[in-house]
Amino acid sequence: MAFSFFGGVHPNENKHYAEDKKVQEFPAPDLLVIPMSQHIGAPCLPLVKKGERVLMGQKIGDNQGLCVPVHASVSGTVKAVEARPHTNGMTCMSVVIQNDHLDELDPAIQPRTQEEVDKLTPEELMAIIREAGIVGMGGATFPTHVKLSSGLGKVDTIIVNAGECEPYITADDRLCQEMAPELVSGLKIIMKIFGLNAAHIAIEDNKPEAVKQLKFAIDPADGIVVDVLPAKYPQGAEKQMIYAVTKREVPSGGLPAAVGCAVFNAATTKAIHDAVYLGMPLIRRIVTVSGDICMDAKNLMVPVGTPFEALMECVGTSENPYKVISGGPMMGAAQYDLAVTTNKGVNAITILGKRNKFAVKNPHCIRCGKCMDACPMHLIPVMMYNAERNSDIDEMKSLNMLDCIECGCCAYTCPAGIPLVQSFRTGKQKLRDAMPKK
Ligand code: SF4
Ligand code: SF4
Repeated sequence: MAFSFFGGVHPNENKHYAEDKKVQEFPAPDLLVIPMSQHIGAPCLPLVKKGERVLMGQKIGDNQGLCVPVHASVSGTVKAVEARPHTNGMTCMSVVIQNDHLDELDPAIQPRTQEEVDKLTPEELMAIIREAGIVGMGGATFPTHVKLSSGLGKVDTIIVNAGECEPYITADDRLCQEMAPELVSGLKIIMKIFGLNAAHIAIEDNKPEAVKQLKFAIDPADGIVVDVLPAKYPQGAEKQMIYAVTKREVPSGGLPAAVGCAVFNAATTKAIHDAVYLGMPLIRRIVTVSGDICMDAKNLMVPVGTPFEALMECVGTSENPYKVISGGPMMGAAQYDLAVTTNKGVNAITILGKRNKFAVKNPHCIRCGKCMDACPMHLIPVMMYNAERNSDIDEMKSLNMLDCIECGCCAYTCPAGIPLVQSFRTGKQKLRDAMPKK
């Protein structure tokens, strides 16, 4: 039984631009810029130097602590190891690879038979997942092996998040339609790690073909249920999805494991299959390139490190883009330098024209209160905005700003077009900076 959640909005889905477009291979460009920071946690330290030859899938960065390695997405020669623009708006140490277009695979990448996989222990599986550089691919980029290991003994419910509620984005929808058996296989690996014989795949009711393919890929003996949820934004947000599937509420400041749940994005789950069965690290992913001014929106299988410019050129635009977003229009980050490249967390590039609602701004609050009604976290966005503008740390704390999931529902409903989410991202950083250092 699936439940809905408080608040939320119904933005125009605009999925029609790309939902019927099969995933196409995007040819790797001549030059790839692979950021050393593609996950939450410690950035990788480069393991290669300028002039060195690298093979496809070779580890080129790693570090201790909360970290997963980064791998070369093509074979070629390291042209530079230097700071380059990142989709997070900062610069990031990156390995620049001149592609030799030979796709010569690292010999360490070896597939495993079912018999070999069956013999792997949970610890060995988590080590494989770490070495493959797998992170939350819905945008969160939290290292997956840490989510797994920290949930051992606490998690009784696994949910694969195939919600993909953001407007325009269809990458996970296409993945479920075209790669359902691999997704189910990855989920069975997660079930083995947690020692559970049941799991959920949660998906919105606006993806009927994906639901059909998932159900077709599941054997009744697998213990996997497909939960079809009503389409409502932000259904794909972790806490809202947990509530919709289990009716359990993750407490303020808590993690899903606090209520016995672990949520894995659909693409992450498929990446687990690839790592365990094919030995393949996370070096490419599906990216939806779409938007109201796109001539030919697409779902592309893109090597990590591909410049946004090349992907935008591939779909074409009918006018000069007014706004280019890494991700969707609700939660994504506007980009100011199109030399930025894709990373493990980039599921979409959204290209908007000047007349698009998501691009409008006229920031004067008229105190209508619509933002409060829309907030699925029961927060008071208008007061949080004022507190952030005044850098009032105590007020931001008392308004529980850190509980904001940055879903953008408030900004979407705000008739004044106030950039509330940007303000809360800044405010949350101010709060973290003000916390006592351990
Ligand atoms: S305050 Fe945060 S959680 Fe609430 S609607 Fe706005 S962005 Fe979403
Ligand atoms: S929705 Fe916008 S205009 Fe209305 S109270 Fe909230 S911030 Fe102010």
